[in-house]
Amino acid sequence: MASQEDVFKKLVAHCKEYGFVFPSSEIYDGLGAVYDYGQNGVELKNNIKKYWWDSMILLHENIVGIDAAIFMHPTTWKASGHVDAFNDPLIDNRDSKKRYRADVLIEEQLAKYDEKINKECDKAAKRFGESFDREMFCQTNARVQEYAQKRDVLHARFVAALEANNLEELKQIIIDEEIVCPISGTRNWTDVRQFNLMFSTEMGSTSDGAMKVYLRPETAQGIFVNYLNVQKTGRMKIPFGIAQIGKAFRNEIVARQFIFRMREFEQMEMQFFVKPGTELQWFEHWKAFRLKWHKALGLGDHKYRYHDHDKLAHYANAATDIEFEMPFGFKEVEGIHSRTDFDLGSHEKYSGKNIKYFDPEINQSYTPFVIETSIGVDRMFLSIMSAAYCEEMLEGGDSRVVLKFPAVLAPVKACVMPLVKKDGLPEKAREIMNLLKFDFKCSYDEKDSIGKRYRRQDAVGTPFCITVDHQTLEDGCVTIRHRDTMQQQRVKIEELHSIIDEQVNMKNLFKKIVE
Ligand code: ATP
Repeated sequence: MASQEDVFKKLVAHCKEYGFVFPSSEIYDGLGAVYDYGQNGVELKNNIKKYWWDSMILLHENIVGIDAAIFMHPTTWKASGHVDAFNDPLIDNRDSKKRYRADVLIEEQLAKYDEKINKECDKAAKRFGESFDREMFCQTNARVQEYAQKRDVLHARFVAALEANNLEELKQIIIDEEIVCPISGTRNWTDVRQFNLMFSTEMGSTSDGAMKVYLRPETAQGIFVNYLNVQKTGRMKIPFGIAQIGKAFRNEIVARQFIFRMREFEQMEMQFFVKPGTELQWFEHWKAFRLKWHKALGLGDHKYRYHDHDKLAHYANAATDIEFEMPFGFKEVEGIHSRTDFDLGSHEKYSGKNIKYFDPEINQSYTPFVIETSIGVDRMFLSIMSAAYCEEMLEGGDSRVVLKFPAVLAPVKACVMPLVKKDGLPEKAREIMNLLKFDFKCSYDEKDSIGKRYRRQDAVGTPFCITVDHQTLEDGCVTIRHRDTMQQQRVKIEELHSIIDEQVNMKNLFKKIVE
């Protein structure tokens, strides 16, 4: 069986070969952790965004959208805390000249202890067979106990160092744990330094005093500074939400794992403004709603889990991640945070403007509390890609690579194929394209054998292939072939629209979410 790492490599190669994701400016050897979406990638990405946007805007009469600029007044980032505190602790290895995140090196060390414990358990499970009691074994086996104790001590030290923002202690942990650089294999480390993740640039010409501005590291602040504009002009009443999709930029130190951690990425965020004191109820509500949204896609419920935060950011009073099982383990795809009144309160302070909400029901003004749901489009894209990617052996020794996308998200919904390039079949196929193209993204393919054409469509995840043959000209029927089952069905041309619509219409998923 191929290792997870191999599967991931194949997935990355597939994304490039089939026009989903290209390295940015590839002819110049690319740019670190920046990627471009190709012809199929952009369709998938747009469908993901539509699925999110409509689930917010259509399903909730109290949620509206905005589209704020990427540049914001620099004081915004002072107020939000990003200028002073949006840092990662970095450390360099002097021999390899490679840079790492100190916290990530330590987290990997923690994972190593877990791996060792798991290995001991797996060995014992093999030895004892069915009677093996994992919990009992972990409690009594001396070696497992030793690893668990080392892990717990390290964990406690690590959390304390992070909370105290103690960079010397982080370095000391790396030294004490004898962590080596994976490239040079040495322990020749520099001190740990804080590194701000915001990109900055200058606005205006330098001669008349340019202003340092930042590329936004999150879209949320555009919503906070506009919340009162929207509330007043939209006559919104609390509780209400504002949704936004847009680019965000972070100068990530360790950019790895393809589009999982990028320097330019896209977020879909919704800030929900509530009355103080009700925020934890709403937090639970959004936590449940967001998981339902993910699960409705049908990628497998077991692939999702919540990860509640132990260490809360200074502005939060509850936070959880929705994690998805990627080829490299369970990873955060979305964060749901109860951000209190931190951001609005801070903007009020820094701007000197009163941005309180007047609640007509209680005749009082207050600063609303905020629940935020924040998901990365690119991470969502990667989760869909990895769940969909499938290599299958077929009868007769043949094999195929198929992307089993949820049909609603598939870049192309149907491919129309005349069996041969003559006898009026292409014309008939074009007629069918014209029938479908107003509602569904369709493609047309008349080259090579039908088998080859099916493979090409499987590789980009097209749910339906429609073949026009000589019989079609006589009886008005075509063959529709289903991607996952490869089953073929003879149907009337007039039925095509409803067969496709039934599978690709987002309405069906939305009904599942709200029921
Ligand atoms: P991580 O811990 O992985 O760095 P985070 O907790 O900093 O992520 P948030 O600030 O909560 O992330 O951002 C919300 C969402 O934005 C994340 O759940 C993720 O989907 C996405 N995101 C954040 N950073 C990146 C990135 N560098 N590349 C791609 N997506 C990202």
